[in-house]
Amino acid sequence: AKAAGHGSYLIFDQTMREKAQYRLQLEGDLRTAISQNEFSLFYQPIVSLESGKLEGLEALVRWTHPDRGLISPDDFIPVAEETGLIGAIGQWCLDAACQQFAEWRQTFGDDAPGFLHVNVSRRQLLDPNLAKLVEQVIQKHAIPPEHLHLEVTESLIMEDQKTFIPILKKLRKSGIKIDMDDFGTGHSSLSCLHEFPLDVLKIDRSFVMNAKHVRDYAALLQAILTLADNLELQVVAEGITDSEQLILLQALGCEYGQGYLFSEPCTTEEIQSLFGSQIDW
Ligand code: C2E
Ligand code: CA
Ligand code: CA
Ligand code: CA
Repeated sequence: AKAAGHGSYLIFDQTMREKAQYRLQLEGDLRTAISQNEFSLFYQPIVSLESGKLEGLEALVRWTHPDRGLISPDDFIPVAEETGLIGAIGQWCLDAACQQFAEWRQTFGDDAPGFLHVNVSRRQLLDPNLAKLVEQVIQKHAIPPEHLHLEVTESLIMEDQKTFIPILKKLRKSGIKIDMDDFGTGHSSLSCLHEFPLDVLKIDRSFVMNAKHVRDYAALLQAILTLADNLELQVVAEGITDSEQLILLQALGCEYGQGYLFSEPCTTEEIQSLFGSQIDW
């Protein structure tokens, strides 16, 4: 038993070291990625569930590593957060997305989507300059503030409401919209939702996934939609992958949806081909 214990300790130790090495390497590579501009943005449609019209786009960052290829944001955003590199990456994402959005509005007019959604992470939100940076970017690209949504996860807001609520209030003062992302995973109580400065609830895909199998989830979805309606919040259901889910959400009166059923996140060129037409599902 002692030997086995010792052995598993060794394995544990080794994976720890490998993880630490991987992380260190990733951090170095991230620094290079920023200076070499190895990032790009993909866009995923946000669709009206009633009309099938493409109403908005969520910008999602991609990193093309010279050796490793495409690295998922789930793998590098946490490292960027911890190291503070998220500041530069986040700023690039915001600026690049706004520039592209403005260009689309100019080229495609009313056929271009009306709303741009950009994710912001913990450290960005804690940056006392964020509100000013956002205002500068939207001015630079002449974007009406109400066309820009910043997405913040529910779990982040819940982590420290006293800190984040005033920050969100300040951001919202400039006219931009605030989305609560991954709603339903961050354990906020429905009864305090009205205290948050919010415009949109983005319901996490775990609800959408489970709603057709588990009755409790469907009931919960209904409760969330009713509450959102009372609080005059818009709702986007995330991760819609099949038509059964779509039909259920339509029946419950959910206004907007996002997911592979409509489109995966795609390149600038690919997404443009969807402008102005109804999304097939
Ligand atoms: P998120 O903000 O919740 O974004 C939605 C994620 O779900 C995206 O993953 C998207 O590709 C994926 N998704 C969309 N539809 C479906 C579906 O029908 N089924 C499934 N299984 N997945 C779907 P992605 O692009 O890999 O991004 C992962 C996360 O990384 C994002 O989750 C967000 O938290 C973060 N992220 C992405 N871009 C940025 C960024 O520019 N800044 C920051 N701070 N975070 C970002
Ligand atoms: Ca998001
Ligand atoms: Ca989400
Ligand atoms: Ca997420």
